[in-house]
Amino acid sequence: MEFEPVIGFEVHTELKTNSKVWCGCSTEFGAPPNTQVCPVCLGMPGSLPVLNRHAFDIALKVGLALNCSIPERTYFDRKNYYYPDLPKNYQISQQYEPLGRDGWFDIELPDGSCKRIEIDNLHLEEDAGKNIHPEGQMHVDYSLVDLNRAGTPLLEIVTRPDLRGKEEAEAFMRGMKAFLEYLGASDCKMQEGRLRFELNISVRPKGSDVLGQKVEVKNLNSMSVVLKCIDAEIERQSALLEQGGRVAQETRLWDEEKFETRSMRSKETAYDYRYFPDPDLVDVVIDNAMKERLAAEIPELPLARRARFVSQYGLSDYDARVLTAERQMAEYFESAVSVHNNPKTLANWMLGEMKSRLNEMGEDATADDFPVRPAALAELVRMIDDGSITGKIAKTVFPEMVASGKSPSAIVEEKGLKPLDDSALEPIVRKVMADNPKMVEDVRGGKKKAIGGLMGQIMRATQGKANPAVVTPMIERLIAESEG
Ligand SMILES: [Zn+2]
Repeated sequence: MEFEPVIGFEVHTELKTNSKVWCGCSTEFGAPPNTQVCPVCLGMPGSLPVLNRHAFDIALKVGLALNCSIPERTYFDRKNYYYPDLPKNYQISQQYEPLGRDGWFDIELPDGSCKRIEIDNLHLEEDAGKNIHPEGQMHVDYSLVDLNRAGTPLLEIVTRPDLRGKEEAEAFMRGMKAFLEYLGASDCKMQEGRLRFELNISVRPKGSDVLGQKVEVKNLNSMSVVLKCIDAEIERQSALLEQGGRVAQETRLWDEEKFETRSMRSKETAYDYRYFPDPDLVDVVIDNAMKERLAAEIPELPLARRARFVSQYGLSDYDARVLTAERQMAEYFESAVSVHNNPKTLANWMLGEMKSRLNEMGEDATADDFPVRPAALAELVRMIDDGSITGKIAKTVFPEMVASGKSPSAIVEEKGLKPLDDSALEPIVRKVMADNPKMVEDVRGGKKKAIGGLMGQIMRATQGKANPAVVTPMIERLIAESEG
């Protein structure tokens, strides 16, 4: 029997605020453990939370951009459970009146078609701390708790089970990451846990319209892990059903070493958490003025920007898609174009040399982290365009720019990479022609392509410092002179 997966996501993203959601502690990543804490985020009795206005604004803006219906009044609930990284023994979340409901998010599939994914709800809550389990040490029988992250504003976006396989899941994750970055809602660094995807997945016989029993999977720390997990769960659940078994209602954890999920606990229900409105926080009234103000702050989103890149800069659809997939990349491009108006060549450099180097810098590296700034790349392309260097030399200048951060003109000056002038070039061209009479004969006989052979030799002889735009007419002139 053939099975198809039915997939939904719970997206958790830490919002980009300087301070936590109920107190003034910093949300900076990487500080020494337990240095960014206060009585509120430590859960001390008697301490009182105060809502971070900026966090609320960002969450509401995401809700508006996801086309959610927004209530006139919202409030916060306590989700009660015990875990060492949660010192209050409850998480402040939203259960009964979330910030947004019934929205949608359009994703683009690899074949260029669009699919609308429904958003069930979106709510604002707080992140927990982190348990640290010392590894690789003998006789360690304890764990450590770091509460720096406790109380960081966390937005949860819950989709309906609208996705039907890995390809769609990948398109959703990439699209959602770009969307949150464009909005400035989160910096989305997955390695720092700023963006996490939890999976709801079930399988059913292909063609059936009844939903199977879903399983929730946690501990998925990158997009590639989510995709591996989808394969593993399709296989596990299909095998169970084939053998006449049943899929249990449970939460499972991804085991990175074994490449499979394992059971964590039977799935809890909302009743288990004893949700009730948090009496320490007041309701938030959301009026039209507030919604209008935030809606006006929603920037041009990826799909719109991509269409503009095609119409305004004449880029191919593919190039525009790659350049707009990340906000930082798109901004880098536009800022380079504003310095030197050659969009196509700039796009080629960014998608080729720059992107491959960015990939080497790691999964979270963005154009903002790239050592060559947009104006310097624009200068490099301008130097090619006005003939101050050859394209071939530019390829050797670029890695120097990456390594040293110096401007292309400084590197060209320092290393003597300027193209040879006519008087230096001509003897070399003459020599190559004298050494290759057959090629010269072919050019004379009208084979334009034969010039390429001579050009290659001349490039080698000059170490790339010959400008093809100068060499070609020079060869033609010398041939004409020898005939005359
Ligand atoms: Zn605090």
